[in-house]
Amino acid sequence: MKYHLLCTLLSGLWTPSAHADPGEPAPAGPETHKSGTQIVLLGTGTPIAYPDRSGPAVAIVVNDTPYIVDCGPGVVRRAMAAYQAGVDALRITDLKHLFVTHLHSDHTVGYPDVILTPWVLGRDVPLEVFGPPGIQAMTDHILKAYEEDIDLRINGLEQGNPEGWKVNVHEIEPGIFYKNDEVTVRAFPVKHGSWEHAFGFRFEAKDRTVVISGDTARCQALIDNAKGCDVLIHEVYSEAALSKRKSKKKKYHPAFHTSGPELGRIANEVKPGLLILYHQLLWGATEEELLDEIRQVYKGRVVFGNDLDVF
Ligand SMILES: [Zn+2]
Ligand SMILES: [Zn+2]
Repeated sequence: MKYHLLCTLLSGLWTPSAHADPGEPAPAGPETHKSGTQIVLLGTGTPIAYPDRSGPAVAIVVNDTPYIVDCGPGVVRRAMAAYQAGVDALRITDLKHLFVTHLHSDHTVGYPDVILTPWVLGRDVPLEVFGPPGIQAMTDHILKAYEEDIDLRINGLEQGNPEGWKVNVHEIEPGIFYKNDEVTVRAFPVKHGSWEHAFGFRFEAKDRTVVISGDTARCQALIDNAKGCDVLIHEVYSEAALSKRKSKKKKYHPAFHTSGPELGRIANEVKPGLLILYHQLLWGATEEELLDEIRQVYKGRVVFGNDLDVF
């Protein structure tokens, strides 16, 4: 049985219970992962604006501290939904760390939202952002665009706090870029078409190692960095569906992204404890059809991620 938090939220049928199979998303609940590392898929979408798939964003929660990876459209609303469903760590004012894989718009349209909304709701410390070269300029432009809003909220009747809108930007290179007593995070370069800077991330916590692909075609650095991880969260497109498309962009996807069969081959080398699919490009293929593309090659555990799934 598959628990899908969004569905259970909407239906009101959610009941907290431990999930028997760690390959299945857990229902968020008071007993779930109060310590240790928890993965919350905030957005599993692509540039296609499906209402049930927010833009790419994943929360890695380590002992109640959330680290948000990417900020596609809808990220803050999905964090609120997860919080309301029992993931206490995703209180909006606790969104203080954002790690960005690359600057594609589908991964960053929610960036102003992560900067401004938690501040408006009470965050009183600057947002710490780690991302590729170029993110400082993007940040500067966003803050410039909203300077009147920021000024009015601080100096007007709203009396907003003067710190929480600020952003401490860290432009990163491959290697360890974040480390504390509980988690070490490493960036590695991935192959995302003509992007000069695109990263995947490896989180090493005491109980779990989680790797996120970001957007990438097959690349050795991902395989090397993901080898033996507990969870690999990987983007994917349906090769069968792409082959049926009459698109001029047929060369685009294999250069920028990873097909189902290719992901199966990658998983055979990485051997993750669990493979979670996100950023799925389906073009009309079904969940099962995409899973079959992978399962024909890879016999390990693989699940199709949906927004608000918790692992
Ligand atoms: Zn993308
Ligand atoms: Zn991309």
